[in-house]
Amino acid sequence: MKCEVRFSMATYRWRCDTHEEMGDEDGCLVGAREEIADLRQRLGILENRLKNYDTLFEEVLVLRNSDRDIRRQNADLRKRLEEAERQYHELLFAVETKHDGETRHETALRYVRQGEYKGDGVACATLAGKGE
Ligand SMILES: [Zn+2]
Repeated sequence: MKCEVRFSMATYRWRCDTHEEMGDEDGCLVGAREEIADLRQRLGILENRLKNYDTLFEEVLVLRNSDRDIRRQNADLRKRLEEAERQYHELLFAVETKHDGETRHETALRYVRQGEYKGDGVACATLAGKGE
């Protein structure tokens, strides 16, 4: 049976209503032992929970690190994408004349292919001539 401990001003000490009034002086000791056993059991449960939290915490740390890596890779990819887009638009806007039935992309592609097929000896000579 659980102790009901209260402070008595008459005797100026703590006394247990449950056991001392029943003349059961060992009762408090048994009660205290039961309480200790109960506390030990609860402590065990809490320790197990704490271990689970430790595991979870480590998983959170791993996830946080991989999240950081992913963000870094994402930022890197975004930068490369922006640079590729910038270069692509530079090529597209180099096409000044709009051709019917062709997108700027198709016109640019045709120009590049034509330049490649004909050989760029003339163009190189022209550019080299401008440089001097
Ligand atoms: Zn008691």
